Amino acid sequence: MSTPPAIRIDNLVKRYAAPDGGEGKLALNGVSFDVPQGGIFGLLGPNGAGKSTLINILAGLVTKTAGSAEIWGFDIDEQRRNAKRAIGIVPQEIVFDPFFTPYEVLENQAGFYGIAKHLRRSEELLQAVRLADKRDAYARTLSGGMKRRLLVAKAMVHTPPILILDEPTAGVDVELRRQLWELVTALNDDGVTVVLTTHYLEEAEQLCDRIAIINHGECIANKPTRELVDMAREKIVAVTVDTDLAKIPQHDAFTKVEMAGDRGVEVTYNKDQLTAGQVLAILQEQGLTVQDVTTREADLEDVFVQLTGA
Ligand code: ADP
Ligand code: MG
Repeated sequence: MSTPPAIRIDNLVKRYAAPDGGEGKLALNGVSFDVPQGGIFGLLGPNGAGKSTLINILAGLVTKTAGSAEIWGFDIDEQRRNAKRAIGIVPQEIVFDPFFTPYEVLENQAGFYGIAKHLRRSEELLQAVRLADKRDAYARTLSGGMKRRLLVAKAMVHTPPILILDEPTAGVDVELRRQLWELVTALNDDGVTVVLTTHYLEEAEQLCDRIAIINHGECIANKPTRELVDMAREKIVAVTVDTDLAKIPQHDAFTKVEMAGDRGVEVTYNKDQLTAGQVLAILQEQGLTVQDVTTREADLEDVFVQLTGA
């Protein structure tokens, strides 16, 4: 028997009501995918793609228009309580009562979940997110980074098997981003299934073992990261030649040729059909003397552009 998915999303549709009673915004247009257990799953898409809408439906904060979803095997409608207990959510917006201390924030959350005093993990969680020394400081005195880490601890109070982070690193500096990545990776190493939404391709590529791409409310890809990157079979050779180019070199095997200044040419080719050496040989056959060469591999950004047609 194969392991059931951590999350199953089936044909999810969300149309927000328009304030004037008109058509309204179709934020999700029949999205389906499974999140396997145990990995770090990236939900990648540009701003406005529908990522937060999807997460907020799972969180029970937004009412879906149609479709269904299961979290850890629990239907979000039929088994709402169990479904909610199976996820911890770090929302996109930071919201805290400024007069509570980190310790109180976690204790309140534990109380909300009805966790008995002796089973609470507030101290342990504060240590895990490196806020033990801020235990009794007012939340309003914490830095942005500390607040984000406190939100992660808050999401883990009831020890859910799944942690969902909605744009955890949007607008945060490099150091904080590194800290959050470390924290997320450590939780995943401890067995927590992680889902994160991001509009940063690089982040998804580095952190996630599987990525679903969502664009205009539709899921346009869902693959292991490696496979997704491999989808871009194109490579680019950029050369500088020794004299100004009279015309753009052409060849049937080239996918695209672009000038870069008077002496620069960028040749895009399919790496299944040509090698960089062959590209150079073709250019030399056409009478060009190459002085300098650089190559570039396709990355997730290329795949993204390819898939979205952006
Ligand atoms: P993302 O998180 O990927 O940036 P969202 O899920 O926030 O995208 O938004 C998807 C689309 O739904 C956007 O066009 C957004 O303007 C719209 N939208 C989001 N929330 C609401 C709302 N409460 N009412 C109406 N439209 C909304
Ligand atoms: Mg969002």
